[in-house]
Amino acid sequence: MAGSGGRPVGVLAIQGGFEAHERMLEGLGATVREVRSRSDLDGICALVLPGGESTAIMHGVEREAMAEPLRERIAAGLPVLGSCAGLILLDRDHLGVMDIRAQRNAFGRQVRSFEADIKLRGFAGPPMRAVFIRAPWIAEHGVNVEVLAEIDGHVVAARQGEMLAVAFHSELAGDARLHQWLLARAQ
Ligand code: GLN
Repeated sequence: MAGSGGRPVGVLAIQGGFEAHERMLEGLGATVREVRSRSDLDGICALVLPGGESTAIMHGVEREAMAEPLRERIAAGLPVLGSCAGLILLDRDHLGVMDIRAQRNAFGRQVRSFEADIKLRGFAGPPMRAVFIRAPWIAEHGVNVEVLAEIDGHVVAARQGEMLAVAFHSELAGDARLHQWLLARAQ
């Protein structure tokens, strides 16, 4: 499997819930590298942008001068999984690599956290258990973006080329299918 024993899968480890992604990837046999500076991007075969606090993560990315190299690698086809704050990072107002506009904390104050079973288009098997924690949704998207799942008409999972963005955490529910998707595409 790509990423196993060979080139590592990067996990952006500036802030937030990166460790659950690392455990998930290692459980699938991948070699993981925590990405904290631009040189950590060298040689990775895929990348996870985890959940957390998107403002803090974006500040860290800019502090480390990683925004431009991240844009370049992703534009060149590096497979990426963005979860929750990671989805926000991919959008037009942040890294600007995915043609989506994320609305932060979109489910409102009353519904800060909830779980749901989600059927993702293109993913075989039973619905995916998804944990939403102060989650965004995708308020707008361009024609190249394929919507994979919605809740009450709001887009919560989408794909554009090698980028997969989900508003929720499947790594916390123990579902490995998104990480398997990433490893299957790893360069
Ligand atoms: N509410 C967070 C943000 O806007 C995202 C929450 C999460 O990643 N679990 O950055």
